[in-house]
Amino acid sequence: MSLAEVIKETFNQVFNKDPEVIVKSPGRINVIGEHTDYNNGFVLPAAIDKSVYIGIAKRNDDQIVLHSIDYNESYQTDVASLAFGPELWTNYILGVTRILRQRTDAVKGYNLVVVGDVPLGSGLSSSAALTCATSFSLSKLFDLNLSKLEIAQIGQQTEHEAVGVRCGIMDQFASVFGQDNSLIKLDCRSLEYEYIPIELDGYEILLLNTNVKHSLASSAYNKRRESCEAAVALVKEKYTEVESLRDVTLDQLDELVKPVNAEYYQKAKFVVEENERLLKATQALKSNDIKTLGKLLYDAHWALSKEYEVSCEELDFLVSTVSTYPEVAGARMMGGGFGGCTINIIKNGKSNDVINKLSDLYFNKFSLNLKPITVSISNGTHEIL
Ligand code: ADP
Ligand code: MG
Repeated sequence: MSLAEVIKETFNQVFNKDPEVIVKSPGRINVIGEHTDYNNGFVLPAAIDKSVYIGIAKRNDDQIVLHSIDYNESYQTDVASLAFGPELWTNYILGVTRILRQRTDAVKGYNLVVVGDVPLGSGLSSSAALTCATSFSLSKLFDLNLSKLEIAQIGQQTEHEAVGVRCGIMDQFASVFGQDNSLIKLDCRSLEYEYIPIELDGYEILLLNTNVKHSLASSAYNKRRESCEAAVALVKEKYTEVESLRDVTLDQLDELVKPVNAEYYQKAKFVVEENERLLKATQALKSNDIKTLGKLLYDAHWALSKEYEVSCEELDFLVSTVSTYPEVAGARMMGGGFGGCTINIIKNGKSNDVINKLSDLYFNKFSLNLKPITVSISNGTHEIL
């Protein structure tokens, strides 16, 4: 049974009727450009064939009733008194609802069922898939006519306000704007974007899930963001036109940040250089230069690990081990860090060899199972009829 069918069946069991709308919103990968989005830089993500699905229908009152198939939990609340707590799956749905309610009282009571196959907390952005699925389904249900960009921005705002992660726009943008077989080169300053067909001549993408998520993840994320903002403030004292690290040069960092604060300098330098790596990687992709692309991925990984300090032992082990395999062109940690997946570019047909070689090594070292995830690049948020 497809997950859309699962939604329909469960909706009938819980609410005794069919959903009026079923929506699917995907998770994402990101080829390169990590921690650049909240610095107004570039990112290179794509939506994948793993998604969050929501079925939804209006009620005749102001109650919201949510049912999660994956958590096997239901939750009921009045639309006028939404409550939030630490690490609740309901935060994402109610966070979106609160933002939309503040805009219009067209949003009233509803019944909702959610299910997904984006692995949680693995750097594939199941949370963005969930918020974008929620916005899109509420927009359809209550005729809100939200644009794609509004849906992405509401997802981002929800993470800030209802979850406490001050994320950039990449994950939500990729979930909503994803297109079959294409990477999205997004300029997070202008929000201009370009689809780049993914033609890895002779190579395939494999994700390897460390199966760990270290607890530092969201606190360190916000701390890195503060360091970046502090570096911008130092540069801005002299170069007043600077708004974000996107506008900053390495010379300016050397002049104004390095002498004042080593931590701010190191973090800001990473971001400026990560943007440069992304631009080179885009060129490499367009000219099918997989060797250069792969090297940029390795460079990005070790910069994320040693300079931005968002990697972990498990991720570093996976990347350093595959770097000795001739069939792997490049690899790096993907997502915010401290666990989740690595993204690997591997010669066509060689993924199984890599998995076989790595699995035992990984288990022997960490007593953890390595989980390979194959993905294909797919369309963004849409309604399923
Ligand atoms: P990531 O976005 O990297 O997967 P996050 O910690 O940001 O990790 O988001 C994961 C959270 O999103 C989960 O803990 C859960 O609250 C929510 N979530 C994601 N997918 C689902 C789902 N299918 N059903 C219910 N909640 C989900
Ligand atoms: Mg998330």
